[in-house]
Amino acid sequence: MLARGETLGAYALTEPETGSDAQHIVSRARLSEDGTEWILDGRKHWIGNGQRAGVITTFAQTEVMKNGVAVLRPTAFIIRPDMPGFRVVGTVRKMGIRGSTQAELAYEGLRVPADHVLGTVGKGFTIAVNALNAGRMSLASGCTAGSKRILGQMREFTEARVQFGHPIADFEITQRKLARTATDIYASDAMLGELTRLAESADGEYALEAACCKVFASDMLWRAADEMVQLAGGRGFVKPWPYERMLRDSRINRIFEGTNEILRLFISLNGIKEPADRLQELGVALRQPMKNLGLLSEYAASRLRTRLGATPTLDVELHARLKTHAQFFEKHVAELKDHSERLIRAYRKEIVERQQELERLADMAIELFATACVLARTQQLLEQRGEAGCERELALCDLFVVEAGRRFRASRITLQSPQDETRRLVARHVREAGGYGVVNTLLHTEIRDGLTAAAASDSATTEATR
Ligand SMILES: Cc1cc2nc3c(=O)[nH]c(=O)nc-3n(C[C@H](O)[C@H](O)[C@H](O)COP(=O)(O)OP(=O)(O)OC[C@H]3O[C@@H](n4cnc5c(N)ncnc54)[C@H](O)[C@@H]3O)c2cc1C
Repeated sequence: MLARGETLGAYALTEPETGSDAQHIVSRARLSEDGTEWILDGRKHWIGNGQRAGVITTFAQTEVMKNGVAVLRPTAFIIRPDMPGFRVVGTVRKMGIRGSTQAELAYEGLRVPADHVLGTVGKGFTIAVNALNAGRMSLASGCTAGSKRILGQMREFTEARVQFGHPIADFEITQRKLARTATDIYASDAMLGELTRLAESADGEYALEAACCKVFASDMLWRAADEMVQLAGGRGFVKPWPYERMLRDSRINRIFEGTNEILRLFISLNGIKEPADRLQELGVALRQPMKNLGLLSEYAASRLRTRLGATPTLDVELHARLKTHAQFFEKHVAELKDHSERLIRAYRKEIVERQQELERLADMAIELFATACVLARTQQLLEQRGEAGCERELALCDLFVVEAGRRFRASRITLQSPQDETRRLVARHVREAGGYGVVNTLLHTEIRDGLTAAAASDSATTEATR
């Protein structure tokens, strides 16, 4: 029915109380006394197609025994809207992607036949994460296609708009924007090639690469949409030009399917797991705090393996044209390993709290993964067409690899920065002062409307929309 388009599916994980920390969802499922049904209670919100799906994969906490003790673990269920106790609370209004609809769902003693458990009771989080991995691959593909479209529009607009007697495409700053967008797309395309190859490979393990692609492509699309608005000037900001909508539509990609912050933590904690295992005494200590990482923890604890930094050399003989790039790449791979180990030694189990360093480590890993993919892709094209037939791709490759290398070095240089402490201090001041907190400023504003009240009215907003 799904394949024929007769019904739609939905994926209902997020709850008002738990987003990134999805492992701690509060929806509960209890087995009926006769064991024939599960009874679900809870709420899910922002569920794509939730108001019209014929079949929904959802998650609720179930009691399972672990070492003789009863604990709560998520279980996946397949539910249908015609099951008693299912209610669509309403739909939401949004900044962008208005062509799709998200709904809030209520499970009020929802009765689900016992055989509607997907997989094993208590193992639902692995199912949730697997679905997210596939989602991250499609999201990255969508962002790449979107960026290609924006690049086409950038070109069209900047050729047509004349200022100072020239099309604005003639100006170097415009050309810099076109070039950055095109090189990013080349890298993203190459990363997706590698990701889909891995997804189809025998072991089917691609969580880390999917996270890298999702972060890279969603950041790229946002940057491209923002530059498009800038290139269009005032026309970028007003209707009926399509650019403001492209900006609004792009924004969500950095938030859903795992926020880019959470995914960066996931990437870096995976990246340091291998060196950490070698420094064995830290292994257990590292694993425990990871449990607090919610969405990623079960996965991270059960299946930690990284390709990033694991291979110090590229295992193919590269074309002479790419040799210098490859030398820098290998140097950076060794540096990433070295710096990961230094961080682990410096902070031991406290490393999981060092998010500023972890974020930079993730950025370094993403740049390296992207560079490896770009080199592999360009090598393949050189083998097929020869150097003369790859002028365009070689320019994209040269620019990307050098720029990515610079970004890598910038993150490496600031990896352990004294300013991190100052940032923590400034943040503490802001928190303690309830905001800016500097007295005698030229402009004094008071924010009266409570954010807490706004957050609490999530459901009310949904009801009102309905
Ligand atoms: C349009 C739309 C469609 C959606 N579709 C679906 C759907 O179909 N199915 C579904 O189940 N869900 C869906 N979602 C939910 C989406 O996946 C969540 O919004 C997302 O996972 C983030 O959760 P949250 O909004 O609760 O943010 P939170 O988890 O509250 O995060 C808020 C901020 O805090 C940061 N943060 C959180 N934890 C940490 C940490 N440990 N360290 C540092 N920073 C942290 C986050 O990065 C983020 O910036 C959708 C959401 C939207 C807006």
